[in-house]
Amino acid sequence: MLSPSEMKDRMLDLAKQDGFIDGIFNYCDRWCDRCEFTQQCRNHAFGEEAPPPEGPAFWDYIHNVFEATMLMIKESMVKLEISQEDIDKYTHEDDDPAKHPLYHRAHQLAFTMHAWLEKNKPGPISCEEDEIVVSVPENNNMLSDAIDIIYYYNFFVSAKIYRALLSDDNYGEGIIQNDSNGSAKIALVALDRLIAAWSILMENQSKYEDEILKFLISLAEVRNQAETKFPYARKFIRPGFDR
Ligand code: SF4
Repeated sequence: MLSPSEMKDRMLDLAKQDGFIDGIFNYCDRWCDRCEFTQQCRNHAFGEEAPPPEGPAFWDYIHNVFEATMLMIKESMVKLEISQEDIDKYTHEDDDPAKHPLYHRAHQLAFTMHAWLEKNKPGPISCEEDEIVVSVPENNNMLSDAIDIIYYYNFFVSAKIYRALLSDDNYGEGIIQNDSNGSAKIALVALDRLIAAWSILMENQSKYEDEILKFLISLAEVRNQAETKFPYARKFIRPGFDR
């Protein structure tokens, strides 16, 4: 396994190679199994070198990735003459995204929906495993796909909203291509897909119609709040995905 220092060099080496779309992995949904850009993604190329997640070497690998990233950050800070004091100066408790009502709502909703799914959808909770849909008729591919989508994006949305709120960018003043809008854009894309997936579930599970309808209303409210908070997010052009 590469040491953190070697891993850092490997990351920098990949960053210089042609044939990749710059920054594509910053605003994707990280669902690589369904991505059409795996061959043009540096993150995917780097991840292909990782040991299998079920093996003991995996967590050592993750630790080394973390150390390598910290090394890169420290070197960049030295190069750009940024000190820890400079960073502390811009960190205000009032700006904590975890306290923002939009994040709070999205986060709570994800936990509520997850608890509902756990109760009403027996089987292991993994989009990789078909057992997740044991209560779904085998021939209903659309329904099983909808359940995969719900599980995949359920916690993803609040994580991306958190990142959008975390950024120091000026998200309300007409600047489109910044990290806030990019993160908010992928959160909105995920919300759109979640809403579509829950709608399919509702159509197929009429006995749960009222409960699912409440989730749909809540998801639509979170989406409206996110669009209000980040009015330019939908216009953000994600590298590779938006043309
Ligand atoms: S761009 Fe595609 S391949 Fe790369 S990390 Fe995102 S989902 Fe995975």
